[in-house]
Parts: sequence; structure tokens; C-alpha cells
Amino acid sequence: MPRYDYRCLTCETTFEAQHSFDEPAPTCPNCGGAVKRLIRRAAPMLRGMAAPVSKYATKEELRAKWAEETPKLRKKLVEKLGEETVRKNAPTLGNA
Ligand SMILES: [Zn+2]
Repeated sequence: MPRYDYRCLTCETTFEAQHSFDEPAPTCPNCGGAVKRLIRRAAPMLRGMAAPVSKYATKEELRAKWAEETPKLRKKLVEKLGEETVRKNAPTLGNA
């Protein structure tokens, strides 16, 4: 049977209830008031995914990475499109 989280609209008690999908929401175990179902969020997982990003490289590291990758990218483009086209269309890539 699925579990649901509820919060009482009157006294703000939160509790978990287990009942089938088509049963109506229970009432607050504390005051008997009406309750609202809470949506469970995958917050811990999202936090875990965000962590590597915040830990990621300083500006200097990113710049170094960019400086390292740019000539490679340019070389690939030159191989594919030819020197002339790259110079015309991607002047910011500079000379490798
Ligand atoms: Zn209550």
C-alpha cells in the first residue's frame, strides 16, 4: 500500500499515512482537522547531483581547459571545413 505524507491545515502537524489510492485523505491525528497531502520531493538526489557542479573548477581552471580544448577544436574544424572557412566563420578560435 502506498504511503502518503500529510500536513494538517489547522495545527500543521505532519504525519505519514498508509492507505490505498482511492481512499479519502485521513484527518489529523492531533486535532482531527483537515489535512493536505504533501508531494514527496527527490531533494536529496538533486542535491547530490548539484554537488559536483559547485565543486567544479575555478575560473582559472576553466580558462586553462578552454585554452587546451580550443586548438583541438579548431584543428578538427580545419580538417573538416578547411582553413579558409574556419578563419571566416570562427575568428574567435584564433590560430592554433
Ligand atoms: Zn491538526
